[in-house]
Amino acid sequence: MNQNAASEFDVVIVGGGMVGSMLCAALATAQAPFKDSFRVCVLEDSLPASFDAGSTPPYDLRVSALSIASEQMLQRVGAWQGIVERRLCKYKRLSVWDGEQQGRTEFNAGDINASHLGHIVENRVIQLALLDRIKQMENVTVISPARLSRYNLTKLGVHLVLEDGREFRAGLLVGADGANSMVRQAAGIAMDKKVYPQHALVATVNTQAPQQDITWQRFVPTGPQAFLPLCGAQGSIVWYHTEEELQRIKQLDNAAFVDELNATFPEELGGVTQVQSRGSFPLAKAHAQSYIASRVALVGDAAHTVHPLAGQGVNIGLLDAAALAQVLREANARGRDIGEHTVLRRYERWRYGDNQIMIGALDTIYEAFKPRPSIVQQARSASLNLVDRVGPLKNQLMRHAMGVTGDLPSIAKRIGPA
Ligand SMILES: Cc1cc2nc3c(=O)[nH]c(=O)nc-3n(C[C@H](O)[C@H](O)[C@H](O)COP(=O)(O)OP(=O)(O)OC[C@H]3O[C@@H](n4cnc5c(N)ncnc54)[C@H](O)[C@@H]3O)c2cc1C
Repeated sequence: MNQNAASEFDVVIVGGGMVGSMLCAALATAQAPFKDSFRVCVLEDSLPASFDAGSTPPYDLRVSALSIASEQMLQRVGAWQGIVERRLCKYKRLSVWDGEQQGRTEFNAGDINASHLGHIVENRVIQLALLDRIKQMENVTVISPARLSRYNLTKLGVHLVLEDGREFRAGLLVGADGANSMVRQAAGIAMDKKVYPQHALVATVNTQAPQQDITWQRFVPTGPQAFLPLCGAQGSIVWYHTEEELQRIKQLDNAAFVDELNATFPEELGGVTQVQSRGSFPLAKAHAQSYIASRVALVGDAAHTVHPLAGQGVNIGLLDAAALAQVLREANARGRDIGEHTVLRRYERWRYGDNQIMIGALDTIYEAFKPRPSIVQQARSASLNLVDRVGPLKNQLMRHAMGVTGDLPSIAKRIGPA
């Protein structure tokens, strides 16, 4: 371990959400060719309610579509089994269509000899599986409840003070503390932000149709309508609309809400019989102007938020975590100080451009499917049909959605057959 970073911990991560916990697991798991593992501390404001393997609590509202790359990373850090033992729903197909026109494309894992395209998993399950894993590690300390109050730079590292007065020292401070990151603000890193007029209403529903293996999205002029399959005859819907309209819908009683869903969503939903829970979220795209400052790095939503229409937020955040862990390991193996600017800059160069492309692509899709003159509608529908017919293009887009393309961190690379 590098002696220059005279600190209680090598790394302190603020935020033990999905991304912060993944970073901790990736740092603390000794991986060939790097035999050393770091002393890591995770400071988390509030841990999720427990969910014991084998139990079947009601579904959480917040779920994520985990890509194949994310599955791979979770396996490599030993957290995937904790997800499997709780619950997850595999999907094999992904369909996108234009509700106004005839344009439609459907991706099928079988077309590229893959068993699946991804899994829908509750955010809480991902976080708990990672936390279970890191709590077993000798070199990890998880402190919760714990809220960072301030930090200052010292000669050899960072000195942190919690709201309750506890103090820590570290060679590197990582902000994994979500979209309103206190670390980002304290580091003086500005954010470029665009607030979308649409909000998202998320609901967990029971359907007449049995368990589905498809996740789909239909674009209508008011915004996308999406379905993510859950275990059994259940699913998670995302309904994008104006804040006012979603407020009205949210206030309907359960029976009226079910009627409105069945009247508004396409028949592919499978006939909603009951709604278990619902909530709505504002939407924004935001990108920090930098991912790094002196002895500070940002990962996940602390660094960027994307429009959730393609379910990529967690997936790109987990890639940040894996990339940062790899950069820090390699620097440590060469005897470098992990808080050095050149080390952190390598992480930033690796992830910033890729994330910028993803943020831009999702914004372009959002803009393209806004209400448009009919000639534009026809063109975008023709594009969907074209994608559907051109096998190589379609397969390449499918691999992209699975997260298996591009410059992946080593723990995100697939080992063995899909
Ligand atoms: C409607 C909607 C649907 C979405 N669907 C998907 C999807 O299908 N797939 C997908 O990949 N993404 C999806 N996303 C995005 C995804 O939820 C986020 O990208 C993801 O939660 C980011 O994870 P994170 O760990 O970076 O941040 P968070 O999940 O925000 O975690 C941050 C953690 O930091 C803690 N914290 C905050 N401040 C402090 C502090 N000062 N001190 C200590 N701890 C602190 C918090 O308690 C929290 O646990 C969706 C988002 C929305 C709004």
